[in-house]
Amino acid sequence: MPRQRPRMSFEYFPPRTQEGKAKLLQETTPALNELDPAFFSVTYGAGGTTRDTTLGVVSAIREAGIEVAPHLSFGGDDENAIGTLIDTYQERGINRLVALRGDMPSGMGGSSQLVYANELVAFVRERTGDHFQIEVAAYPEIHPEAKSYDNDIQFLKGKLDAGANSAITQYFFNVESYFYFLDQCAAAGISKPIYAGIMPIINFANLARFSRNCGAEIPRWICQRVEGYGEDQESIRKFGIEIVTQLCQTLLDSGAPGIHFYTMNHIEPTREIYRNLGL
Ligand code: FAD
Repeated sequence: MPRQRPRMSFEYFPPRTQEGKAKLLQETTPALNELDPAFFSVTYGAGGTTRDTTLGVVSAIREAGIEVAPHLSFGGDDENAIGTLIDTYQERGINRLVALRGDMPSGMGGSSQLVYANELVAFVRERTGDHFQIEVAAYPEIHPEAKSYDNDIQFLKGKLDAGANSAITQYFFNVESYFYFLDQCAAAGISKPIYAGIMPIINFANLARFSRNCGAEIPRWICQRVEGYGEDQESIRKFGIEIVTQLCQTLLDSGAPGIHFYTMNHIEPTREIYRNLGL
């Protein structure tokens, strides 16, 4: 039997300005949509800080007839506020969600208690039944707050058992970490798909800073290579495309069920990598 086409999806964050939003909707989305992704997803700011902008971008993409998944977390909100937001998504014809615990933005920590993603999944299922296709987050290099490797896998299982359909991973550059993780998940009784999250290299300095916080490792050889290029941005760009293309090729050749691109709201390099893969 021929293998199913891998599922491809593209992630955005909600732009801060009207110009940014217009560019995302009028230029970036039509260009990336030509690549025929299964859906776009739009992040939700820590603590609910982008509630309206996420809703605005998601609604506009849906109105253009394109499949879209808002990310969602309780943040500091109560069940009423989150319930109303979920109902609005349902009314607007959205049938996918990425359910997260999220993090508190700095300065907002304090009294609010973060709600674990498994509880959000259960809440969505209780409120809307099977309406939404729910994704959750997975961490091949393990979530920075996890007590242990096995413990983190058990919590992923908990989110999937609570009713999520599949998982999308944090980005990684060590392909072995992903396949080892899949094996460990299978051994723990997880049979739902775990899609590979891939970060094209756009701004290496930002990526390096962000990676330190989210627990994704950039291998030393990649750092050394980029450092050697100094200010030569064109060489960094080409190197980034080359290694991320290779990473995706390995994933697809080895049977990954699909890839979720963290596009950072850019058409390139995602489009170039996609073309290199002959998709
Ligand atoms: P959870 O699955 O709830 O896990 C959080 C931590 O607690 C883990 O260490 C886990 O081991 C532990 N844990 C889980 N359940 C329990 C439990 N019941 N009891 C005790 N411990 C538990 N962040 C944003 O702010 N906005 C976004 O839009 C966003 N999108 C993302 C999309 C993807 C695909 C990924 C991979 C991450 C995304 N993040 C986003 C980051 C994410 O919010 C953070 O990594 C956050 O710290 C954890 O969220 P989670 O849903 O994975 O949490």
